[in-house]
Amino acid sequence: MRSVIEAQHAILASVKQLEPETVSLLEALGRVLAEPVTADTALPSFDNSAMDGYAVRAADLVGASREHPVRLSVVADIPAGHPTRVEITAGTAARITTGALLPRGADAVAPVEDTDDGARGTSELLKSIAIYKAFEHGAHVRTAGDDVQRGEKVLDPGALIRPSEIALMSAVGHSRVKVHRRPRVALLATGDELVAPDQLPGPGQIRNVNEYSTAALVMRYGGVPLLLGIARDRTEEVAAKLEEAIGQGADLIVASAGVSVGAYDVVKDAVKAHGSIDLWKVRMRPGKPLAFGFYRQVPFFGLPGNPVSAMMTFEQFVRPALRIMSGFDQWQKPTVTVTLLEPIASDGRETYARAWVARQVDHWTARLSGGQGSNMLGSLARANALVVVPDGVTQLDAGALVRAQMLDWPEEIDGL
Ligand code: AMP
Ligand code: MG
Repeated sequence: MRSVIEAQHAILASVKQLEPETVSLLEALGRVLAEPVTADTALPSFDNSAMDGYAVRAADLVGASREHPVRLSVVADIPAGHPTRVEITAGTAARITTGALLPRGADAVAPVEDTDDGARGTSELLKSIAIYKAFEHGAHVRTAGDDVQRGEKVLDPGALIRPSEIALMSAVGHSRVKVHRRPRVALLATGDELVAPDQLPGPGQIRNVNEYSTAALVMRYGGVPLLLGIARDRTEEVAAKLEEAIGQGADLIVASAGVSVGAYDVVKDAVKAHGSIDLWKVRMRPGKPLAFGFYRQVPFFGLPGNPVSAMMTFEQFVRPALRIMSGFDQWQKPTVTVTLLEPIASDGRETYARAWVARQVDHWTARLSGGQGSNMLGSLARANALVVVPDGVTQLDAGALVRAQMLDWPEEIDGL
């Protein structure tokens, strides 16, 4: 039986980054850039005012003060988006708004607060203006190219597109973006006992949780879920669903249940009919019966049926595969070192204990969030972290320092 890290490496070595596609700017959010982005203009692209005020020649204001203001005649009014041809010569100024092109001759802006136009309460253009302060050449001017040069590479392939990258790309005229494709993930539940969540289970039946929990995880990690529904515990039914996954162009197939050693565990056989199971069983708890292989060249995961096991193995194995397919390098879940507030026992397999991690003044603490049975969803909903009891360790005492995976933190946060 492989350790978690061995299984992760084996799986990640056999999944490939998906090819890029070109999408509109907003569709790129949360995805990985697959091309360099260069600026088609400088930023700012022209010298402009950083303030509402008056465009002036700094040389005119030498010695200006509240007691000895400098009076300039106002020769133009320049709102943003309305450049003027008027040149500012000695003794003149132009009213200007933030973002407006600085007129020829001007080299500084006197903010309106430093003039006698400060608190007038009217927008009428004054014939002349008194300025109460001296300003240096360049004061309150945003110079062309200060931020980005024309032709400069502003983003590298591999960059995660966050709102900040959307902002930068929109500023440099990049309205279509080449990003890695979102993995299409076919999801199927298997089991004679399953009914849909909107049905009341009869005797011996339970609701199909795994299809929805794994679909939610696929969506959280940037994939597109293809819900294939429930296959009964018969090889032909599972085989039909696997074919449906191929027909729908799945990049990855994720099944749950039917991968143990029970008499009705037919999933592995159905996969092997047109593929292979390359890895089965991992030394982890919950989640031991994980299976990984290929069905008609498409990577296949057989997750354990117990709902918590299904989600835990998704987090440790499917999520990293989705990250690599989506173009990310980083796939490890972020962790923090926590002080245990209660002991945790393990059978020696790497154990993922549902826990609540809290930040204290200068450290983090963890306590279990409830019962740890692999079917117990309540304690999972109350958890914000998984405390990892390392491979080979059977007991951690209260006060022990261990790592905890933070369930709701993005991979971009490196271990703190
Ligand atoms: P199996 O791997 O088929 O032995 O299933 C292990 C356990 O998981 C059993 O208690 C199943 O009833 C349960 N189970 C299987 N599939 C699902 C599902 N889709 N949703 C919730 N529980 C499930
Ligand atoms: Mg079953």
